[in-house]
Amino acid sequence: MSAANNQDDDGLFGVPGEGRAVALFRLVLTFMAVVMMTFVLIEGWRIWRDYRHAFTNAENMVSNLARATAQHAEDAIRQVDAITAALAERLEGDGFSHLDRPRLHALLAQQKAIIPQLQGLFVYGADGSWIVTDQAAIPPKANNGDRDYFVFHRTHTDRNVRIGSVVRSRSSGDLIIPISRRLDNPDGSFAGVLLGTIKVDWFVRYYGDFRIDERGALVLAKRDGTILVRRPFVDQVVGRSLAKSEIFRDHLPYASEGLAEAVAVVDGTPRLYAYRALTSYPLVVEAGLSRESIIAPWRHDVFKSVAVLLLLLVGLGAFGWVVLRQLRERIAIERALHQAHQTLRSLALTDSLTGLGNRRRLDAVFEAEIRRARRHGYALALVMLDLDYFKLYNDRYGHPAGDQCLRRFAELLQQALKRPADLAVRYGGEEFTVLLPDTDVQGAELVVEEIMQLLRRQVIEHAASPLGRVSASAGIAVGHPALDASTPESLMAAADRALYQAKQQGRDGYTVAGNMAMSAG
Ligand code: GH3
Ligand code: MG
Ligand code: MG
Repeated sequence: MSAANNQDDDGLFGVPGEGRAVALFRLVLTFMAVVMMTFVLIEGWRIWRDYRHAFTNAENMVSNLARATAQHAEDAIRQVDAITAALAERLEGDGFSHLDRPRLHALLAQQKAIIPQLQGLFVYGADGSWIVTDQAAIPPKANNGDRDYFVFHRTHTDRNVRIGSVVRSRSSGDLIIPISRRLDNPDGSFAGVLLGTIKVDWFVRYYGDFRIDERGALVLAKRDGTILVRRPFVDQVVGRSLAKSEIFRDHLPYASEGLAEAVAVVDGTPRLYAYRALTSYPLVVEAGLSRESIIAPWRHDVFKSVAVLLLLLVGLGAFGWVVLRQLRERIAIERALHQAHQTLRSLALTDSLTGLGNRRRLDAVFEAEIRRARRHGYALALVMLDLDYFKLYNDRYGHPAGDQCLRRFAELLQQALKRPADLAVRYGGEEFTVLLPDTDVQGAELVVEEIMQLLRRQVIEHAASPLGRVSASAGIAVGHPALDASTPESLMAAADRALYQAKQQGRDGYTVAGNMAMSAG
């Protein structure tokens, strides 16, 4: 079927509502996606922030712990340092030859009683023999000449205190840290060793008081890495070396204090450590919290909030799904309605016998075509065709054959029309109308001649016609809407008159309105 111009069809067959429903569908979909994304982003950001907080708090905590334990160790040792310095001064001043042993013993005992971390105070002679201690009795033949601190001081003239590795006390069996210094004769030769011992237990109890979980660690070590005290405390750990640990190897050489995440050499636990080298003594403290203990509360929180988030997303998703499904249904319904509407519309505009447009279809486009022709300044042709002696045809061959003949004529009309904008309709009965936009008289004549040629070539038998075959007459009316006052009615009337003229002149031909020239076949 020749299509009328699209511009006009838009007005006839537009899809009101569907575009809006589709836009709404997209809007809802986008909105859901944005809302969900926002939730996820906010929750993700919160989780990340909490993770950072957990670590920042842990960093502060281990830093404070390291500071407290460093201070504690420094104080404990400084006190012993001070006492032994005073005692050494006195021993060296008095000389070893005329020592007042009972008085010295009383002094040592008194000092030991004052300073709680002290396990004992000892004075050894140049051969390692016990000269005087804070204890009431000296074991017979007691000699500490083999202790490493003794050997050290005998062979080194250094006058500072020396902090030794942990040993087990020969007097009490306790684990102790020996703090020792060399005693000189007036001539500078080796006179003996003054020793103050600190109970490892003093540190163990102090470290035990901190409220950190069982995977946390506190370490007091010598600068060379030898462990003196550690929480959690086990005897076997004492004396082990941390020299190869990450902190001693990679951090301490460059910074005397800092933070480091490292896997413990002693127990393999990954921890966040704060380390600190003491300012006055070659000692290092480390305070560590296990990664696990830092992360566990955060992880617990993450599980909870992720669960809530998932629930929320599922809820939102379900809600969105319902809304979207309803929208989809609406769109589908609107589409179906539109389809039905269009079908009805085209049915209403279609001639059921021939499949051509009907009179309503012509009416629907005629005005618009005239307006268009006026705009563009071109001519517009209207052709009216009427089969000749058709009543006789029906009488002779019957109504069904008449119908068949009308269908063949309709096909032939379609064949003759070449341009998409040309429109052929069955105007009624055995009358047809062809609208030819942008077509002048010559063009319209060509089309009509083509139609008649095709009909002649068909040679549909019509014994009741003088011609012996089915023929048609046509009237052509051409308007120039830009120049004249053509209307659908005026063109129809002119074409009708021309058709009448053609019939008058013997049929099987056409005339042109206003011109009245006739071309007979
Ligand atoms: P002419 O046009 O040559 O003057 O003669 P005619 O016999 O064709 O004139 P008229 O318009 O009086 O007759 C038209 C006939 O067309 C009447 C009717 O029998 C026939 N006709 C109209 N509509 C139909 C139809 O739908 N089917 C069939 N088979 N015949 C139709
Ligand atoms: Mg007729
Ligand atoms: Mg007729």
